[in-house]
Amino acid sequence: MKPFLFLGLFAFSYLAFSSVKIHEELYIPGQNPLIVKELIHAGTVEIDHVTSEGFELYGPRGIGLYLDQKNIVYLDMKEMNQKNLSGYPSSDEIALKMKELAKKFPRIMKLFSIGKSVKGKDLWVIKISDNVEEDEIEPEFKYISSMHGDEITGRELSISLIEEIGENYGTDQDITELVDNTEIFIMPSMNPDGSDLKQRANAKFVDLNRNFPDILRDTDSRTEGRQIETQHVMNFQAQRKFSLSANFHGGTIVANYPWDSKYDLHPLDTLVKQFSQGYSDLNPDMRSSTEFPGGITNGAQWYVVRGGMQDWSYNWYNDLQITLELSHLKWPSYSDIPRHYKNNRDSLIQYMKYVHHGAGFKIVSPKTSGKVEVTQTSPVVKNFGIFTFKNSEFYKILPEGDYTFTILRNNKRKKKVSVSVTSNQISLDGNYVTIE
Ligand SMILES: [Zn+2]
Repeated sequence: MKPFLFLGLFAFSYLAFSSVKIHEELYIPGQNPLIVKELIHAGTVEIDHVTSEGFELYGPRGIGLYLDQKNIVYLDMKEMNQKNLSGYPSSDEIALKMKELAKKFPRIMKLFSIGKSVKGKDLWVIKISDNVEEDEIEPEFKYISSMHGDEITGRELSISLIEEIGENYGTDQDITELVDNTEIFIMPSMNPDGSDLKQRANAKFVDLNRNFPDILRDTDSRTEGRQIETQHVMNFQAQRKFSLSANFHGGTIVANYPWDSKYDLHPLDTLVKQFSQGYSDLNPDMRSSTEFPGGITNGAQWYVVRGGMQDWSYNWYNDLQITLELSHLKWPSYSDIPRHYKNNRDSLIQYMKYVHHGAGFKIVSPKTSGKVEVTQTSPVVKNFGIFTFKNSEFYKILPEGDYTFTILRNNKRKKKVSVSVTSNQISLDGNYVTIE
Protein backbone atom coordinates (compact mmCIF):
# COMPACT_ATOMS: atom_id res chain seq x y z
CA MET A 1 0.00 0.00 0.00
CA LYS A 2 1.16 3.50 -0.74
CA PRO A 3 1.96 5.75 2.19
CA PHE A 4 -0.31 8.71 2.76
CA LEU A 5 1.28 11.02 0.28
CA PHE A 6 -1.36 13.65 0.83
CA LEU A 7 -0.42 14.14 4.45
CA GLY A 8 2.37 16.52 3.75
CA LEU A 9 -0.07 18.82 2.00
CA PHE A 10 -1.74 19.85 5.18
CA ALA A 11 1.19 19.20 7.45
CA PHE A 12 3.55 21.69 5.89
CA SER A 13 2.15 24.76 7.48
CA TYR A 14 2.35 23.86 11.13
CA LEU A 15 5.81 22.80 12.10
CA ALA A 16 7.41 26.15 11.33
CA PHE A 17 9.77 26.06 14.27
CA SER A 18 8.74 23.49 16.71
CA SER A 19 8.95 24.56 20.30
CA VAL A 20 6.68 21.68 21.24
CA LYS A 21 7.54 20.24 24.65
CA ILE A 22 7.21 16.50 24.59
CA HIS A 23 5.78 15.01 27.77
CA GLU A 24 3.36 12.54 26.20
CA GLU A 25 4.37 10.02 23.56
CA LEU A 26 1.38 8.31 22.00
CA TYR A 27 0.66 5.91 19.17
CA ILE A 28 -2.67 6.18 17.36
CA PRO A 29 -3.40 2.89 15.63
CA GLY A 30 -5.60 2.65 12.55
CA GLN A 31 -5.83 6.39 11.95
CA ASN A 32 -4.04 9.08 10.02
CA PRO A 33 -3.05 12.50 11.37
CA LEU A 34 -6.13 14.22 9.94
CA ILE A 35 -7.92 12.96 13.03
CA VAL A 36 -5.95 15.45 15.15
CA LYS A 37 -5.66 18.23 12.62
CA GLU A 38 -6.80 20.90 15.11
CA LEU A 39 -3.85 20.03 17.36
CA ILE A 40 -1.50 20.04 14.42
CA HIS A 41 -2.73 23.39 13.16
CA ALA A 42 -2.48 24.83 16.64
CA GLY A 43 1.18 23.80 16.68
CA THR A 44 0.85 21.95 19.97
CA VAL A 45 1.92 18.51 18.73
CA GLU A 46 4.35 16.76 16.43
CA ILE A 47 3.64 13.70 14.36
CA ASP A 48 6.08 11.04 13.22
CA HIS A 49 6.20 7.67 11.43
CA VAL A 50 2.95 7.96 9.55
CA THR A 51 2.07 4.60 7.99
CA SER A 52 -1.05 2.80 6.86
CA GLU A 53 -1.18 1.27 10.35
CA GLY A 54 -1.26 4.50 12.33
CA PHE A 55 0.97 7.31 13.48
CA GLU A 56 2.89 8.69 16.45
CA LEU A 57 1.77 11.80 18.28
CA TYR A 58 4.01 13.83 20.60
CA GLY A 59 3.16 16.80 22.74
CA PRO A 60 2.64 18.33 26.16
CA ARG A 61 0.63 16.88 29.05
CA GLY A 62 -3.05 16.68 28.26
CA ILE A 63 -2.86 15.20 24.77
CA GLY A 64 -4.06 11.82 26.05
CA LEU A 65 -6.93 13.46 27.85
CA TYR A 66 -7.90 15.31 24.69
CA LEU A 67 -7.92 12.02 22.79
CA ASP A 68 -10.01 10.38 25.52
CA GLN A 69 -12.61 13.11 25.15
CA LYS A 70 -12.71 12.53 21.41
CA ASN A 71 -12.90 8.76 21.90
CA ILE A 72 -9.72 8.29 19.91
CA VAL A 73 -7.92 5.09 20.84
CA TYR A 74 -4.20 5.42 21.58
CA LEU A 75 -1.30 3.55 23.13
CA ASP A 76 1.36 4.95 25.41
CA MET A 77 4.69 4.55 23.61
CA LYS A 78 6.73 4.61 26.82
CA GLU A 79 4.68 1.67 28.07
CA MET A 80 5.21 -0.06 24.73
CA ASN A 81 8.97 0.31 25.18
CA GLN A 82 8.86 -0.86 28.81
CA LYS A 83 8.29 -4.48 27.91
CA ASN A 84 11.60 -4.79 26.07
CA LEU A 85 13.97 -2.90 28.34
CA SER A 86 15.82 -5.88 29.72
CA GLY A 87 19.27 -6.62 28.35
CA TYR A 88 19.92 -3.13 26.97
CA PRO A 89 23.00 -1.30 28.20
CA SER A 90 22.76 2.12 29.86
CA SER A 91 24.40 5.12 28.20
CA ASP A 92 27.32 4.73 30.63
CA GLU A 93 27.74 1.13 29.53
CA ILE A 94 27.68 2.22 25.87
CA ALA A 95 30.39 4.78 26.66
CA LEU A 96 32.44 2.07 28.37
CA LYS A 97 32.02 -0.24 25.39
CA MET A 98 33.22 2.53 23.05
CA LYS A 99 36.27 3.10 25.24
CA GLU A 100 37.04 -0.61 25.12
CA LEU A 101 36.69 -0.73 21.35
CA ALA A 102 38.94 2.30 20.83
CA LYS A 103 41.50 0.69 23.11
CA LYS A 104 41.27 -2.65 21.36
CA PHE A 105 41.77 -1.17 17.87
CA PRO A 106 44.09 1.82 18.44
CA ARG A 107 45.63 1.54 14.98
CA ILE A 108 42.41 2.62 13.29
CA MET A 109 40.15 4.00 16.03
CA LYS A 110 40.16 7.12 18.12
CA LEU A 111 37.51 8.05 20.67
CA PHE A 112 36.57 11.62 21.50
CA SER A 113 33.69 13.56 23.00
CA ILE A 114 32.12 16.49 21.18
CA GLY A 115 30.60 17.85 24.39
CA LYS A 116 28.14 16.94 27.09
CA SER A 117 24.38 16.40 27.18
CA VAL A 118 21.96 18.31 29.42
CA LYS A 119 22.66 15.78 32.17
CA GLY A 120 26.41 15.88 31.65
CA LYS A 121 26.87 12.69 29.63
CA ASP A 122 29.61 12.85 27.01
CA LEU A 123 28.52 12.69 23.38
CA TRP A 124 31.07 10.16 22.17
CA VAL A 125 32.28 9.76 18.62
CA ILE A 126 34.65 7.12 17.26
CA LYS A 127 36.80 8.10 14.33
CA ILE A 128 37.86 5.17 12.15
CA SER A 129 40.64 5.52 9.59
CA ASP A 130 44.19 4.48 8.91
CA ASN A 131 46.65 6.99 10.41
CA VAL A 132 43.77 7.79 12.69
CA GLU A 133 45.67 10.43 14.66
CA GLU A 134 46.24 12.46 11.50
CA ASP A 135 43.71 14.58 9.71
CA GLU A 136 44.28 13.20 6.23
CA ILE A 137 42.86 14.45 2.97
CA GLU A 138 40.23 11.78 2.50
CA PRO A 139 36.45 11.90 2.06
CA GLU A 140 34.70 12.25 5.43
CA PHE A 141 31.68 10.18 6.34
CA LYS A 142 29.46 10.03 9.43
CA TYR A 143 26.69 8.01 11.06
CA ILE A 144 24.73 9.51 13.97
CA SER A 145 22.20 7.45 15.87
CA SER A 146 19.45 7.84 18.41
CA MET A 147 18.86 11.58 18.56
CA HIS A 148 15.43 10.24 19.43
CA GLY A 149 16.40 8.57 22.66
CA ASP A 150 13.80 5.81 22.45
CA GLU A 151 14.80 4.78 18.91
CA ILE A 152 17.45 2.47 20.21
CA THR A 153 18.18 -0.05 17.44
CA GLY A 154 20.64 2.23 15.64
CA ARG A 155 22.71 2.73 18.78
CA GLU A 156 23.21 -1.01 19.12
CA LEU A 157 23.88 -1.47 15.40
CA SER A 158 26.48 1.33 15.50
CA ILE A 159 28.38 -0.50 18.22
CA SER A 160 28.18 -3.78 16.27
CA LEU A 161 29.42 -2.01 13.15
CA ILE A 162 32.38 -0.41 14.93
CA GLU A 163 33.27 -3.79 16.40
CA GLU A 164 32.99 -5.56 13.07
CA ILE A 165 35.19 -3.00 11.33
CA GLY A 166 37.79 -3.40 14.07
CA GLU A 167 37.73 -7.18 13.91
CA ASN A 168 37.92 -7.36 10.13
CA TYR A 169 40.33 -4.59 9.29
CA GLY A 170 43.36 -6.10 7.59
CA THR A 171 41.60 -9.32 6.61
CA ASP A 172 38.37 -8.22 4.88
CA GLN A 173 39.41 -6.42 1.70
CA ASP A 174 36.26 -4.30 1.45
CA ILE A 175 36.53 -2.99 4.99
CA THR A 176 40.28 -2.48 4.78
CA GLU A 177 40.04 -0.46 1.58
CA LEU A 178 37.25 1.63 3.01
CA VAL A 179 39.08 2.38 6.26
CA ASP A 180 42.37 3.12 4.50
CA ASN A 181 40.84 5.70 2.19
CA THR A 182 38.09 7.30 4.22
CA GLU A 183 37.67 9.17 7.49
CA ILE A 184 34.65 7.56 9.14
CA PHE A 185 32.95 9.03 12.21
CA ILE A 186 30.32 7.09 14.14
CA MET A 187 28.25 8.57 16.96
CA PRO A 188 26.04 5.84 18.45
CA SER A 189 24.13 8.14 20.77
CA MET A 190 23.31 11.79 20.20
CA ASN A 191 20.77 11.78 23.00
CA PRO A 192 22.05 9.61 25.86
CA ASP A 193 19.73 11.33 28.36
CA GLY A 194 16.70 10.47 26.25
CA SER A 195 17.83 6.85 25.91
CA ASP A 196 18.36 6.54 29.66
CA LEU A 197 14.89 8.01 30.21
CA LYS A 198 13.46 5.79 27.44
CA GLN A 199 12.01 8.86 25.80
CA ARG A 200 12.14 10.57 22.41
CA ALA A 201 13.17 14.05 23.51
CA ASN A 202 16.28 15.18 25.38
CA ALA A 203 16.22 15.87 29.14
CA LYS A 204 14.58 19.24 28.44
CA PHE A 205 11.74 17.51 26.58
CA VAL A 206 12.76 18.90 23.19
CA ASP A 207 12.81 16.85 19.98
CA LEU A 208 16.36 17.25 18.66
CA ASN A 209 15.30 16.43 15.12
CA ARG A 210 13.12 19.56 15.03
CA ASN A 211 15.80 21.68 16.66
CA PHE A 212 18.28 22.32 13.81
CA PRO A 213 18.26 25.49 11.71
CA ASP A 214 15.28 25.38 9.37
CA ILE A 215 16.32 25.75 5.74
CA LEU A 216 13.11 27.60 4.86
CA ARG A 217 13.09 29.95 7.80
CA ASP A 218 16.65 30.55 8.98
CA THR A 219 19.06 32.60 6.93
CA ASP A 220 22.15 31.20 8.62
CA SER A 221 23.23 28.23 10.71
CA ARG A 222 23.49 29.61 14.23
CA THR A 223 23.71 27.59 17.40
CA GLU A 224 22.18 30.20 19.73
CA GLY A 225 19.01 29.18 21.50
CA ARG A 226 19.21 25.53 20.51
CA GLN A 227 19.49 22.49 22.72
CA ILE A 228 23.00 21.70 23.92
CA GLU A 229 23.14 18.37 22.06
CA THR A 230 22.12 20.10 18.82
CA GLN A 231 24.77 22.77 19.37
CA HIS A 232 27.52 20.20 19.86
CA VAL A 233 26.59 18.37 16.66
CA MET A 234 26.45 21.68 14.77
CA ASN A 235 29.91 22.65 16.01
CA PHE A 236 31.26 19.20 15.18
CA GLN A 237 29.89 19.50 11.64
CA ALA A 238 31.41 22.96 11.24
CA GLN A 239 34.85 21.66 12.23
CA ARG A 240 34.84 18.70 9.84
CA LYS A 241 34.25 18.32 6.10
CA PHE A 242 31.62 15.62 5.96
CA SER A 243 30.27 14.97 2.51
CA LEU A 244 28.00 11.98 3.14
CA SER A 245 26.06 10.99 6.26
CA ALA A 246 23.08 9.12 7.58
CA ASN A 247 21.16 9.35 10.82
CA PHE A 248 19.47 6.37 12.42
CA HIS A 249 15.92 6.17 13.73
CA GLY A 250 13.34 3.50 14.46
CA GLY A 251 9.60 3.02 14.31
CA THR A 252 9.39 1.72 10.77
CA ILE A 253 11.81 0.39 8.16
CA VAL A 254 12.69 2.72 5.28
CA ALA A 255 15.45 4.86 3.79
CA ASN A 256 14.23 8.47 3.72
CA TYR A 257 15.97 10.95 1.40
CA PRO A 258 15.86 14.77 1.28
CA TRP A 259 14.28 17.17 1.26
CA ASP A 260 12.25 16.73 4.43
CA SER A 261 10.98 20.28 4.68
CA LYS A 262 9.99 21.10 1.10
CA TYR A 263 8.66 19.37 -2.00
CA ASP A 264 11.36 20.65 -4.37
CA LEU A 265 13.68 18.11 -5.92
CA HIS A 266 17.04 17.91 -4.19
CA PRO A 267 19.95 18.94 -6.49
CA LEU A 268 21.28 15.38 -6.12
CA ASP A 269 17.83 13.76 -6.30
CA THR A 270 18.66 10.94 -8.71
CA LEU A 271 21.88 10.08 -6.91
CA VAL A 272 20.48 10.21 -3.38
CA LYS A 273 17.60 7.99 -4.47
CA GLN A 274 20.15 5.59 -5.93
CA PHE A 275 22.11 5.56 -2.64
CA SER A 276 18.91 4.99 -0.67
CA GLN A 277 17.89 2.19 -3.01
CA GLY A 278 21.40 0.76 -2.69
CA TYR A 279 20.91 0.66 1.07
CA SER A 280 17.48 -0.91 0.79
CA ASP A 281 18.44 -3.50 -1.82
CA LEU A 282 20.91 -5.12 0.58
CA ASN A 283 18.44 -5.14 3.47
CA PRO A 284 15.82 -7.90 3.10
CA ASP A 285 13.29 -6.27 5.46
CA MET A 286 13.60 -2.85 3.84
CA ARG A 287 13.57 -4.04 0.26
CA SER A 288 10.43 -6.10 0.79
CA SER A 289 8.51 -3.24 2.44
CA THR A 290 4.78 -3.26 1.72
CA GLU A 291 4.46 0.29 2.99
CA PHE A 292 7.14 2.01 0.93
CA PRO A 293 7.80 0.92 -2.66
CA GLY A 294 11.36 -0.40 -2.81
CA GLY A 295 11.88 0.47 0.84
CA ILE A 296 12.64 4.14 0.15
CA THR A 297 10.73 7.40 0.39
CA ASN A 298 11.18 11.08 -0.12
CA GLY A 299 11.01 12.87 3.22
CA ALA A 300 8.47 15.61 2.49
CA GLN A 301 6.21 13.32 0.48
CA TRP A 302 6.03 11.03 3.49
CA TYR A 303 5.47 13.84 6.01
CA VAL A 304 7.10 17.20 6.39
CA VAL A 305 9.78 17.72 9.01
CA ARG A 306 11.06 21.22 9.72
CA GLY A 307 14.29 21.83 11.61
CA GLY A 308 15.60 18.31 11.00
CA MET A 309 19.25 17.37 10.74
CA GLN A 310 19.02 15.93 7.24
CA ASP A 311 18.10 19.11 5.35
CA TRP A 312 20.32 21.28 7.52
CA SER A 313 23.48 19.27 6.78
CA TYR A 314 23.27 19.61 2.99
CA ASN A 315 21.94 23.13 2.94
CA TRP A 316 24.71 24.61 5.06
CA TYR A 317 27.51 22.06 4.85
CA ASN A 318 27.24 20.34 1.47
CA ASP A 319 26.91 17.08 3.40
CA LEU A 320 24.40 14.78 1.72
CA GLN A 321 22.40 12.98 4.37
CA ILE A 322 19.64 10.39 4.51
CA THR A 323 17.52 9.16 7.42
CA LEU A 324 17.45 5.43 8.04
CA GLU A 325 14.53 3.93 9.91
CA LEU A 326 15.91 0.62 11.10
CA SER A 327 13.23 -1.33 12.97
CA HIS A 328 9.46 -1.45 13.26
CA LEU A 329 9.69 -1.44 17.01
CA LYS A 330 11.57 1.52 18.42
CA TRP A 331 12.72 -0.63 21.27
CA PRO A 332 12.80 -4.22 20.01
CA SER A 333 13.58 -7.13 22.25
CA TYR A 334 17.34 -7.07 22.91
CA SER A 335 17.66 -10.62 21.65
CA ASP A 336 16.44 -9.38 18.26
CA ILE A 337 19.35 -6.93 17.80
CA PRO A 338 21.67 -9.49 16.11
CA ARG A 339 18.97 -10.15 13.50
CA HIS A 340 18.62 -6.41 12.86
CA TYR A 341 22.37 -6.12 12.52
CA LYS A 342 22.45 -9.00 10.06
CA ASN A 343 19.77 -7.28 7.97
CA ASN A 344 21.64 -3.98 7.94
CA ARG A 345 25.28 -5.01 7.95
CA ASP A 346 25.92 -5.07 4.19
CA SER A 347 23.85 -1.92 3.66
CA LEU A 348 25.78 -0.02 6.31
CA ILE A 349 29.10 -0.90 4.65
CA GLN A 350 27.79 -0.21 1.14
CA TYR A 351 26.41 3.18 2.09
CA MET A 352 29.77 4.23 3.54
CA LYS A 353 31.44 3.35 0.24
CA TYR A 354 29.21 5.84 -1.54
CA VAL A 355 31.29 8.62 0.01
CA HIS A 356 33.74 7.86 -2.79
CA HIS A 357 31.13 8.81 -5.36
CA GLY A 358 32.54 12.31 -5.64
CA ALA A 359 35.53 14.51 -6.35
CA GLY A 360 37.50 17.24 -4.70
CA PHE A 361 40.66 19.26 -4.66
CA LYS A 362 43.43 20.14 -2.25
CA ILE A 363 45.47 23.31 -2.46
CA VAL A 364 49.16 22.99 -1.63
CA SER A 365 49.41 26.26 0.30
CA PRO A 366 47.82 25.74 3.72
CA LYS A 367 44.80 27.45 5.24
CA THR A 368 43.40 28.68 1.96
CA SER A 369 39.70 29.37 1.89
CA GLY A 370 37.38 30.55 -0.85
CA LYS A 371 34.52 29.55 -3.07
CA VAL A 372 34.12 26.94 -5.77
CA GLU A 373 31.55 26.72 -8.53
CA VAL A 374 30.74 23.15 -9.51
CA THR A 375 29.64 22.60 -13.12
CA GLN A 376 28.98 19.27 -14.74
CA THR A 377 30.19 19.18 -18.36
CA SER A 378 29.35 15.62 -19.38
CA PRO A 379 27.16 13.61 -19.97
CA VAL A 380 24.89 16.58 -19.28
CA VAL A 381 25.65 20.21 -18.58
CA LYS A 382 24.43 21.21 -15.16
CA ASN A 383 25.42 23.82 -12.62
CA PHE A 384 25.41 22.52 -9.06
CA GLY A 385 26.01 25.92 -7.51
CA ILE A 386 28.70 27.68 -5.53
CA PHE A 387 30.15 26.24 -2.33
CA THR A 388 32.59 27.56 0.21
CA PHE A 389 35.75 25.71 1.22
CA LYS A 390 38.30 26.20 3.96
CA ASN A 391 41.66 24.78 5.04
CA SER A 392 42.69 24.23 1.42
CA GLU A 393 40.32 21.30 0.93
CA PHE A 394 37.03 20.63 -0.84
CA TYR A 395 35.11 17.47 -1.67
CA LYS A 396 31.62 16.91 -2.98
CA ILE A 397 29.39 13.93 -3.70
CA LEU A 398 28.39 14.09 -7.39
CA PRO A 399 26.74 11.97 -10.07
CA GLU A 400 28.93 10.10 -12.52
CA GLY A 401 30.40 12.45 -15.12
CA ASP A 402 32.96 15.15 -15.87
CA TYR A 403 33.10 18.43 -13.99
CA THR A 404 34.77 21.79 -13.90
CA PHE A 405 35.57 23.29 -10.53
CA THR A 406 36.00 27.04 -10.85
CA ILE A 407 37.94 27.97 -7.75
CA LEU A 408 38.06 31.47 -6.35
CA ARG A 409 40.57 31.77 -3.52
CA ASN A 410 40.66 34.44 -0.90
CA ASN A 411 43.29 36.27 -2.93
CA LYS A 412 40.88 36.31 -5.91
CA ARG A 413 42.97 34.17 -8.24
CA LYS A 414 40.51 32.20 -10.32
CA LYS A 415 41.43 28.71 -11.40
CA LYS A 416 39.55 26.05 -13.33
CA VAL A 417 40.24 22.36 -12.83
CA SER A 418 38.66 19.31 -14.42
CA VAL A 419 37.61 16.26 -12.45
CA SER A 420 35.72 13.07 -13.20
CA VAL A 421 33.46 10.97 -11.02
CA THR A 422 32.97 7.27 -11.61
CA SER A 423 30.62 4.89 -9.82
CA ASN A 424 31.32 2.13 -7.40
CA GLN A 425 34.97 2.33 -6.76
CA ILE A 426 36.95 3.40 -3.78
CA SER A 427 39.64 5.72 -5.02
CA LEU A 428 42.93 5.81 -3.17
CA ASP A 429 42.65 8.64 -0.64
CA GLY A 430 39.59 9.94 -2.45
CA ASN A 431 39.47 11.64 -5.82
CA TYR A 432 41.31 14.89 -5.15
CA VAL A 433 43.09 17.07 -7.66
CA THR A 434 46.14 18.83 -6.26
CA ILE A 435 46.41 22.53 -7.00
CA GLU A 436 49.55 24.62 -6.60
ZN1 LIG B 1 13.29 9.36 15.00
